[in-house]
Amino acid sequence: MYDVAALGELLIDFTPEGKMESGNPRFVQNAGGAPANVLAALSALGRKTAFIGKVGDDSFGHFLRNSLEAAGIHSSGLVFTAETPTTLAFVHLDSGGDRSFSFYRNPGADATLMKAEVADELLENSRIFHFGSLSLTHEAAAEATLYAAGRAKQAGKLISFDPNLRERLWDSLTHAGDMIRKALGFADVVKLSEEELLFLTDKPDMEAALEDLCSTFSISLAFVTLGAKGCYYRCGELTGLVPGYQVQAVDTTGAGDAFLGGVLHQLLLLGLGSGVAGLQQHQLDQIAAFANAVGALATVRKGAMASMPSLEEVEQLIQG
Ligand code: ADP
Repeated sequence: MYDVAALGELLIDFTPEGKMESGNPRFVQNAGGAPANVLAALSALGRKTAFIGKVGDDSFGHFLRNSLEAAGIHSSGLVFTAETPTTLAFVHLDSGGDRSFSFYRNPGADATLMKAEVADELLENSRIFHFGSLSLTHEAAAEATLYAAGRAKQAGKLISFDPNLRERLWDSLTHAGDMIRKALGFADVVKLSEEELLFLTDKPDMEAALEDLCSTFSISLAFVTLGAKGCYYRCGELTGLVPGYQVQAVDTTGAGDAFLGGVLHQLLLLGLGSGVAGLQQHQLDQIAAFANAVGALATVRKGAMASMPSLEEVEQLIQG
């Protein structure tokens, strides 16, 4: 039995070491993809996790499977294809340390996952199913993703979703909005940014927007992450603003994924693998504080999948 199964994109991030302007930066190859990062966070906290997705049968694809295994993520749900290469993403760092990406995905192997390639047994043998929106950008993987979400929902699993809107990967924002709304129809637990919330609701007031989103899509538990400031949550009529932890951040990549891993870990701890209604305020505050700590610690080391904190590190930060 797995605690969490996740389906989604799995790709290579090439991140420059040193300044881009200095002429000839060295690029370091890392495994990337938000759903796999969430699993890596959960594995580092001691949870059993399994990944479902597709990569090319090329050296990058094999590197990615090794990266999953190295992060403690079960990889039997990873499909290899000889027909399409693994997706590659090159990271640009601007002078302020902010990142943008150039994607080589046209579509890449991850976007060609077929319904018949989804490992049903992993969905059935997991307590929580998690997915994001990048696997919804292309038709084949979108069908496979929504099939998996529907199947997991039918089997009574808790469904976690992260809109993770990357505008440049969609043919249009209308398409992005439509697909994200479809996915939200399955979701019990959602984590999103203020920008994504505004995009989905068109309401500039964060609290009103989250209330609107939760009631429109019957979402039981939602978090808006606020960077170093922490997070805001809503569960039924209960809301809370929970401050973040002060750390020396060096790389915020994967902080949101780490945060969500922290949320799911806490839900499993509370025995809520198949329903979150009825959480009390003190439990919600505890979940949010724990998730803030996991997110904060993910920023103190470079990288995402390989830089997730252990349970011991998280507890140390919380205890001060
Ligand atoms: P994303 O990575 O999705 O952009 P955020 O940047 O909001 O999301 O980060 C997710 C969570 O990680 C935040 O809610 C917070 O708990 C934690 N976090 C992120 N950046 C920092 C930081 N600089 N200092 C402390 N905590 C942070």
